[in-house]
Amino acid sequence: MTTTAQELFREDAYLRECEATVSNVADGAFYVDRTIFYPLGGGQPGDTGEASWDGGSAMIVDTRYGDGRDIAHIVEQGASLPEVGSIVSLTIDWDRRYRHMRMHTAMHLLGSILRYDVTGGNISTEKSRLDFNMEDTVDKEAVGKALEELVAANHAVSCRWISEAELDANPELVRTMSVQPPRGKGSIRLLEIDGVDLQPCGGTHVSSSSEVGAVRIGKVEKKGRQNRRVNIHLDD
Ligand SMILES: [Zn+2]
Repeated sequence: MTTTAQELFREDAYLRECEATVSNVADGAFYVDRTIFYPLGGGQPGDTGEASWDGGSAMIVDTRYGDGRDIAHIVEQGASLPEVGSIVSLTIDWDRRYRHMRMHTAMHLLGSILRYDVTGGNISTEKSRLDFNMEDTVDKEAVGKALEELVAANHAVSCRWISEAELDANPELVRTMSVQPPRGKGSIRLLEIDGVDLQPCGGTHVSSSSEVGAVRIGKVEKKGRQNRRVNIHLDD
C-alpha cells in the first residue's frame, strides 16, 4: 500500500530540499508522503538527487510515476533503502532541474511563436526539441529573434489551478489556450506566461521569461511532410 505523495514541486518549483515520511519501499525505489522530486512526464525528465536518513543515504537516479499516481524515487543500484515510517531528507540536483525549468519555459515561448499543433517534445539540460504539425518551412532567424525578444521582455510566469466548472463558465479561457485542457480530473493546472501563453501544463518552469537566459534555435528538421522538429539549446 502506498499513499499518493503531496507534489510540492507543483506549487513551488524552486524548492530544492524537503523532509518527508517514507510510505512504501519496493523494487529499488521508495515512496513518500510529500516530495520535491518531479516525476518523468510531459517531455520533462524525472529529477535526480539524494536522500538521507538516520543511518543511511542513497543517490536518487530517476523519479517516475509508479502504479497510479505514486511517485517512485529510484535509488542507485545496490544502494540501501530507508525503512517505511522513517523520515528522509530529500535534495534535488538543482543545477540539472533548473536547466529543465529554463528549457521547459523556453518550449512554451517557442510554442507561442510557432502557433501550430505540437505533436511531441523532449527536454534535457543541453538540448530540447518540439515537434510541430506544420508544412511550412521555419524561418530560423526570425524565430530565434522572436524567442530572444520574449526572453528579454521579462514576462512573468505563473501557475494556477482552475476547476472544470470554472473553465466551463469561462469559455473564452479555453479559446485563448494554445492546448486544450484534459477533462475528467476535476481541476486543471494552467501555466500562464503573462501576455504570451496560457495552457494546461504540469511541469516545472522558471518564474520569469528572462530566467530562460541564453537560448538558441538549433537544427530544424523535416520529419515527414507535416512535421517540423525544432531543436533549442542553452548556451551556458
Ligand atoms: Zn509547461
